[in-house]
Parts: sequence; structure tokens; C-alpha cells
Amino acid sequence: MILILAPNISVKDQKYVQLMGYLGSLPGVEARIHNVQGEEHHLTEVYLIGKTNSLNVEEMRDLPGVENVVRVSQDYRVLGRHEGDKRGSSFTYNGVKFGQDNLHVFAGLCAVDNAKHVEEMMKALQENGQVCTRMGAYKPRTSPYAFQGHGRLCLPFVFELAGKYGIKVITMEITHDSHIKEIKEALEQTGNPTGVMLQIGTRNTQNFELLKAVGKQNRFPVLIKRGFGITLEESLNAAEYLASEGNSHVIFALRGMKTNMGDPHRNLVDFSHVPVVKRLTRMPICIDPSHSVGSRAQTPDHLMDVMHVTAQGVIAGANMVLVDFHPDPKTALVDGPQALLLKELPYFLEDVAIAREAYEKRCKLAADFIGS
Ligand code: PEP
Ligand code: MN
Repeated sequence: MILILAPNISVKDQKYVQLMGYLGSLPGVEARIHNVQGEEHHLTEVYLIGKTNSLNVEEMRDLPGVENVVRVSQDYRVLGRHEGDKRGSSFTYNGVKFGQDNLHVFAGLCAVDNAKHVEEMMKALQENGQVCTRMGAYKPRTSPYAFQGHGRLCLPFVFELAGKYGIKVITMEITHDSHIKEIKEALEQTGNPTGVMLQIGTRNTQNFELLKAVGKQNRFPVLIKRGFGITLEESLNAAEYLASEGNSHVIFALRGMKTNMGDPHRNLVDFSHVPVVKRLTRMPICIDPSHSVGSRAQTPDHLMDVMHVTAQGVIAGANMVLVDFHPDPKTALVDGPQALLLKELPYFLEDVAIAREAYEKRCKLAADFIGS
């Protein structure tokens, strides 16, 4: 059960103190506080865990300081979409709003190789009106002999260049909780010129200790990828780990499933799950066409498969596109064959805009149909 308290209530308010005293007296019930910073209000939500079956929704709604009560199903208590659940589903980080109703493209380098390529990438993004990017510093590689990423050594120049070109959010995979500290230190050292979204890669979707560590911090939002060999339910539970620890600023990414059934694509594209995740949870949904398709293959109509599947995800309502670009793919240290070229950036963005407009028209058509 979730109690949504009156906006901007403070821990010193008489009503808050009374409420907490009462909740503390309920046998077998634990109260966990979640603070949600909205655009206008500070919201406090109290998650009641344990023996909540006997609690009456109407009675709980009458408690001091309580504005609304949601009885949640067992699954995805924090991130789930429950019956009668009107909790907000968006958050703003470093001036950029993320929600189930808008769309951002995160085009960038799969792996940071050198400052020249980072600068060329950032410059192209700025020229095309973009404020988000992806930059891989810590790379989880199949082979121990493959390039593992420059790690903390590249962070200062990546952050400085982001600031120089007006980039507000960089999604960056971390593979160990110590990387959070390294990122914080590098941001501090460079004067916080940009923001970072911590990325949990598909290989770490069920690394529960990493999830707990990332969930315990509130400074950075999180992009969690679907595990490539587990069920959707298992991956959504992994996302819930982050939220249950206190960080509900979570975006869920589809990136294809590992099975030969998807050949010749690198992974079986699973973007038909965009509406499913939207129905089950309140998380914004990201699609990663690059790691799904894994190549620049194209059809006789000149459209690359990467762009076809991007359009398929966007027309289904995706809220974020994570896509590999590189100024010189043949020299890229990781995933060059799937990277798009900088000159393809405006073309890619236009193609995404066409698909987004089609999605918005479809929504209107559906709303008109319901209303008729
Ligand atoms: C990535 O986005 O760089 C990446 C490694 O993706 P995934 O975890 O989906 O394989
Ligand atoms: Mn990659």
C-alpha cells in the first residue's frame, strides 16, 4: 500500500509526526519513505510493506497528512502502474524531463576512444539541437583481452567537452559500484559541467548488489537494460530493485534478446514490448536499435535495419532512443560495424521525428475513437 502525502509536507509538520507515530504502531508493517521531487512540488510517498492486507484504504486516506492511497499489487510496487494510480510518471534531471509522454535521442559513442572523436560527436550533437548523448567509459567485454574502456581516465575530458557543447545528460554504463564515486569525483573536479545517467548493462541486469548500490543513491537517474536471456518479468523486477532502495528515477531499455532466432540481427528485436512495459509500469521506455540489430545492413528501399527498428519502437511510443554513432567507425574500438556516421545524424533525427509524429497521430486517432 502506498500513502501519498500532501504536497510539500515537511518532517516537522505536526500531521507528519502524528502519521508516522501511528504507522509505527501498526504490527508487522514497515513504512519506507520515498521522496519525489516534481517540477512544482516535493512529494512524499510512504510505502507500507508487510501485513497490509487488513488495512482499510478509506481509513488510511483519513489519516493526518495523507492525500491519497493506492493499494498496489505484489509486483513492481514502486515502478508499477496500479489500479487508480495517479502518481506522476516523469522526472526532471539537469533540466531535461523524462516521462512516458515525450522522447529523447541519446546518440553517441558506444565506447570513448579519444578526445578528438568525443569532441566531434558532441559538436555534431549541438549542431543538431541535441542535449543528450551516450558515452561508454567502462565497457563490459566478452573477452578479457578486448578493450575494456578508458574508465575514469577519460571522464574529465568527456565531461568538459559535454559542458563545452551544451550536453546536459550523458548515459554511461557502470559495471561496479566504485564507478559511481569515480564519476562523482570527475564531475566535481571539472566543475559539474554536465549530468550523468548511470546505465546498467544487459549483462548486469541481475547483479543485485550493483542494483542495490545504484538504487541507494539519488544523485543520478538510472537506465537499466533488459537482461538478454531472462524474462521480461525478471528484468522489470530488476528495475524495481533500484526503486525499492530509494531511486525511482529509472528508465527501462529494450535492447534485443540473445537467441539465434533473431539472425541475422545481433539480437532478436523486442520493441513490440514497448507498449507492454508502458502498461505494466510508469517508467519511460528506451529502445537501443544499435545493439539489437548490430549492423548497418539495409533494404532495397535504402533504409537501414537500425532505422527500421527505431521507427518501429518510436511509432509504438518509445521515450528514448539509445543509438551508436562514430565519427570514423572503422577505427572504433568497440561496435564499429553498427555505428551510424555523423553526417547521418540529421537524417536519423528526421526519420525519428516522422515516426514520433505518426505515433502522436495514432494516439489522437485512438482517443477520438474512444470518445466517439
Ligand atoms: C552498451 O549500450 O554499450 C551495451 C554494452 O549494451 P548492452 O548492455 O545492451 O549489451
Ligand atoms: Mn556496444
